Amino acid sequence: QLPTSKKPPWLRQRAPQGQKYEEIFGQMRELKLATVCEEAQCPNIGECWNGGLATATIMLLGDTCTRGCRFCAVNTARTPPPADEDEPYNTAKAVASWNVGYVVLTSVDRDDMPDGGSDHFARTVKNLKELKPGILVECLTPDFKGDLEAVRHLARSGLDVYAHNVETVDRLQRRVRDPRAGYMQTLEVLKAAKECGVYTKSSIMLGLGETDEEIIDTMLDLKSVGVDIFTLGQYLQPTPNHLDVVEYITPEKFEHWRKYGEEVVGFRYVASGPMVRSSYKAGEFFIHAMIK
Ligand code: SF4
Ligand code: SF4
Repeated sequence: QLPTSKKPPWLRQRAPQGQKYEEIFGQMRELKLATVCEEAQCPNIGECWNGGLATATIMLLGDTCTRGCRFCAVNTARTPPPADEDEPYNTAKAVASWNVGYVVLTSVDRDDMPDGGSDHFARTVKNLKELKPGILVECLTPDFKGDLEAVRHLARSGLDVYAHNVETVDRLQRRVRDPRAGYMQTLEVLKAAKECGVYTKSSIMLGLGETDEEIIDTMLDLKSVGVDIFTLGQYLQPTPNHLDVVEYITPEKFEHWRKYGEEVVGFRYVASGPMVRSSYKAGEFFIHAMIK
């Protein structure tokens, strides 16, 4: 990877700011709620927290993953600490008292749990919708080892958007993702969720050596299983031990993919840009997708 000074100028990070950001930040401190936005030092925090429909991402089920993908810097262990049984209620209670309109619930992969954590997600959604019916909830889930009952259980919990990321094109799956994940499995998860009547969403990282044709094939495959919202962002190497960046994609090329995804492939909404992450301004984009 190029040193930071050699990174293209469009990847320079912006400092968080804005009145709503300050307010959410203050509430978070009081509630002792940890967001991915902060812990991952996400550069989009100013935009997401100040947006028309403020979006924040919360991590459930701990910070230790049972898998090890070559693009991801999360801690890994075969048997992470057991899930906190009170987390679904406590998280819902804290989020409900907070001034965000759209929350993304996500987690590491918990292959050590019989249902992969599906019911834990589902209970969090149910509690949250009971405490604050107006809030929009997206679950960005693991693949639950392809257990489609676990997928359906969560998709029917009352959530608004079921998100599961394909991460990269078919050819690069084995290089990039843990071997227990896979392209077909991801498509099956998204198909099963869509059949439950919810909006679905998926995301890929660019800059890992994929070709334009492979990006198009990925979009068409996602569209064929009913995906509504698609996002593309630049892969950035989290540490020197992770996969190298093969290419920095220009903002103009990202804009090309946004148009292609919306106008040619026909997704309801596409967010595409160097710093776009799966949950980037998810609340605002969801509203756009709904009114289409
Ligand atoms: Fe990271 Fe998810 Fe892969 Fe776990 S499964 S290593 S959290 S990308
Ligand atoms: Fe938080 Fe996701 Fe927005 Fe980053 S992109 S600030 S993690 S909601």
